Amino acid sequence: MLIKRTVQTSSREQFIDITDVIREVLQEMDLQNGVVTVFVPHTTAGVTINENADPSVVHDMLYALDKAVPDDRHFRHAEGNSTAHVKSSVIGPSLQVIVEKGRLVLGTWQGIYFCEFDGPRTRSLLIKGLSG
Ligand code: ZN
Repeated sequence: MLIKRTVQTSSREQFIDITDVIREVLQEMDLQNGVVTVFVPHTTAGVTINENADPSVVHDMLYALDKAVPDDRHFRHAEGNSTAHVKSSVIGPSLQVIVEKGRLVLGTWQGIYFCEFDGPRTRSLLIKGLSG
């Protein structure tokens, strides 16, 4: 079963914790044991796993991505959002999490983040569970 969710972002660059959204979807699909795939069908957004205890980590990740991918007058893409495209590929469009006894197998400090690089926008999230 493929499940779709919407994520509303509120600024140009933003990490949104979607761990609870994925937990709700797990219940909806009644996946007990297997793997859940989270996929972002966008070219200027991504999805990643990182610390969700200290919000400074998200700040530092956005800061470091800005330092790693600064705007550049040699970019050719006419939309003017080349840094968002590059950051999207650096972070990646999908991830998988193991599911055991109906629960996401995550480390104590791990959360799943939707990563916006060209917002604010209404974004889609595709979630597919595979039992096994
Ligand atoms: Zn573009």
